[in-house]
Amino acid sequence: MTARVPPRPDLGALEGYHSPQLDVSVRLNTNESPYAPPREFVERWLAEVSAADLNRYPDRSARALRDGLGKYLGQPAERIFCANGSNEVLQTLLLAYGGPGRSVVTFEPTYALHSHIARITGTAVVSGERTDTFEIDADAARSLVADVDPVIVFVCSPNNPTGTVESGSTIDALLDATRGLVVVDEAYGEFAPDSALGRVGDDGRLVVVRTYSKVWSMAAVRLGFAVAPPWVVEQLQHVVLPYHLSVPTQEAGRVALEWVDEMVDRVDRLVAERERVMAALRDLDGITAFDSGANFVLFRVHGSGRALWERLVARGVLVRDCSGWPRLAECLRVTIGTPNENDEFLDAIRSTIGEVAT
Ligand code: PMP
Repeated sequence: MTARVPPRPDLGALEGYHSPQLDVSVRLNTNESPYAPPREFVERWLAEVSAADLNRYPDRSARALRDGLGKYLGQPAERIFCANGSNEVLQTLLLAYGGPGRSVVTFEPTYALHSHIARITGTAVVSGERTDTFEIDADAARSLVADVDPVIVFVCSPNNPTGTVESGSTIDALLDATRGLVVVDEAYGEFAPDSALGRVGDDGRLVVVRTYSKVWSMAAVRLGFAVAPPWVVEQLQHVVLPYHLSVPTQEAGRVALEWVDEMVDRVDRLVAERERVMAALRDLDGITAFDSGANFVLFRVHGSGRALWERLVARGVLVRDCSGWPRLAECLRVTIGTPNENDEFLDAIRSTIGEVAT
């Protein structure tokens, strides 16, 4: 056998990111929408793809998609950069601004891909802490950022996996404290009452990242975007692969914008269900549910989180087991599903919490 070629030595300690799946009837573990996008949208999208010149490369600048998104968001198209999922947006930001000798700051616990992609791009990661209720403490954050002088400060709002929404004053404090970019990951933005989008300016250093995966019910399509100062968008265009965004992807994003009302209706229904699930969890002895502005709720079991997770699986309900993650002892995260799925989750938890709570 020929000798295997070793990978980059600095990648040796990294594990791939994955979300364990099980074959159960109620899957509330990956923060997807339980609702498919409208059938009429799918048909219009497929018709556009069918009419496209498939022998030609796609529009490299994704102009029609960016124009449409700009109109929807009230932002100039020059501030918009699109990629294959918001993960690729994050990767492109790190390819352009990270790298050896540079560092980023995250506030843990948060979305694992911020630090994971940073490390893949050879960027050092410095982790700040959050308060007991998972907020970023502006004063502590300011002094950490002043010490580290990072090229990017990552904020996730609403934060995955805690659901925490950051205030505008925290974002302003971070912008004030750093010379670098402040990247606010708003993958769950439309589920929250507050957004940093209105703070993005041509001369600022704020970048907001969003995705079609959750609120648009289009996780399978892989489309995300950044709203950023044009000078940042230019740098992202320099490092991303040419023609990275296929015609079906661009068309899906553009055509979906004609079904905004349906998207808003799905979001409203999920927000109402989130509040119902949250109230039901708070009625239970043995559970602390944390405030959430997203389509999921994090809760702590006063007892064994793992034991509760196993009992839920035995009843056909899969949630995310965060109980072994740093800073999230005994915590589980449930994605908001359809009313029926949420009822099945609540029934399962009501009938088992007494067995695991201490
Ligand atoms: N950011 C956050 C906070 C997420 O939770 C996710 C998906 N789990 C993403 C980004 C990536 O989403 P996508 O690549 O599907 O746009």
